[in-house]
Amino acid sequence: MNQANTTQTLTLFNTLSRSKESFVPITPGEVRIYTCGPTVYNYAHIGNLRSYVFPDLLKKLLQRLGYEVRHIINFTDVGHLTSDQDAGDDKVEKAAAETGRSAWEISKFYAEAFKRDIELLNIAFPTRFTYATEYIPQQIDLVSQLESKEMTYNTADGVYYDTSRFETYGKLAKLDLDGLNEGQRVSAEGKRHKSDFALWKFSPADQQRQMEWESPWGKGFPGWHLECTAMIFAELGQSIDIHTGGTDHIPVHHSNEIAQAEAATGEKYVNYWLHGEFLVLDSERRMGKSEGNFLTLQTLLDEGFSARAYRYLTLMSHYRSFLTFSFEALKSAQTAYFKLKRLIQGLNQGESQGADLAADYDRRLLDALCDDLNAPKALGLIWELVQDKAVGGKEKLELLRHYDGILSLSLMDFTDFPELVIEVPAEVLELARQRWEHRLNRNWAESDRLRDEISARGFVVRDAKDNYEVVPE
Ligand code: AMP
Ligand code: ZN
Repeated sequence: MNQANTTQTLTLFNTLSRSKESFVPITPGEVRIYTCGPTVYNYAHIGNLRSYVFPDLLKKLLQRLGYEVRHIINFTDVGHLTSDQDAGDDKVEKAAAETGRSAWEISKFYAEAFKRDIELLNIAFPTRFTYATEYIPQQIDLVSQLESKEMTYNTADGVYYDTSRFETYGKLAKLDLDGLNEGQRVSAEGKRHKSDFALWKFSPADQQRQMEWESPWGKGFPGWHLECTAMIFAELGQSIDIHTGGTDHIPVHHSNEIAQAEAATGEKYVNYWLHGEFLVLDSERRMGKSEGNFLTLQTLLDEGFSARAYRYLTLMSHYRSFLTFSFEALKSAQTAYFKLKRLIQGLNQGESQGADLAADYDRRLLDALCDDLNAPKALGLIWELVQDKAVGGKEKLELLRHYDGILSLSLMDFTDFPELVIEVPAEVLELARQRWEHRLNRNWAESDRLRDEISARGFVVRDAKDNYEVVPE
């Protein structure tokens, strides 16, 4: 087991308490995180992708603090209906019907596309990707447990969870249940309360579904909320440390996850609920997969942007703030990102000074990240550090390497802004070679003269102990 850095306090904003809390894991030295994954009936849009950047930051920070992290991201490849009210079509089946491909092909294709997207964004793969369709027996078992605790009832179209029987239903969202259920129409599905949700849906009698399974209640497929809980129980245990997702999941999906999990086990399901705020197109328009107004990572690449510049853009705002996306905003982010990398490229690792100051930057950077993942503050500190004349290149590069391990901006990879890579002409390299020889022979006057000549051509020579490099001025 790893030895966690116990001297550093990590605070996280917990949606359950609506406040920042000090993080204490269930098992010392270990953290179990679950992140609700995408519904794989289409590409992830850039809003969806934003919701995977902050858990990535969190995970890498926890690892830096010495925790062993077990992280699961799932793929919703079945049962996510077009309406949150358990009506409408299954999105994957619908996409299959529309495209003529099989539901299995559709979900596999978009799951792979999602993996490619997050890889381009330097988001580390979880310990395990789980697929809802691979946990059907566990989901059926969970429904049976809830049934035996009399938390369910059957209707003509499925098995439903009776939210009125779970005393604290809606505590995460601070839902006003009476208000929510007041004046509701008795729904076509025979639901007793508007907030009740399907655990198991029956296959329609007049329709052959591609994804359906036998169950004690009849042939059908699991309700969407069930899968996350079943996979958490199977992969992480009955109580976990951290659960993440977008804010849209608070009132329904996560409220339902808590209800079914805690009714089944009698234990607290999740200690820290972290929710990322939405990426919006402007102050009004949310980006939604079903709304048809979504931009994918590929769209950004096609427009000539770097995927990492998009990551940089997402880190410029706190994960709990709205991020208003525009191509102008992305362009400024990319310009800043490349400028930062150019400055880093020009650092001289042979120069060492300001160790105390560097230690102070180190502390401030860690404090910023440990303060509920304040990435914008950390980015500001990175800029300050890179431009600080009192800190040597060696110290800067050490810190940058360390924090880029968390921010994952590829700050030391200079291959993605080719327009800034300036070839050093052969004549300049020859002047530099001659200068190095004069230097070795302690012929300082000639060595200085050659340095000026090199400088007049727009380049500088950086001397390290046993070698030198020539870079653009
Ligand atoms: P979905 O594929 O719809 O289940 O969504 C995958 C993840 O993206 C979930 O965590 C959602 O909460 C999140 N999400 C959906 N829309 C947005 C958005 N516009 N901005 C940020 N996150 C989003
Ligand atoms: Zn989920």
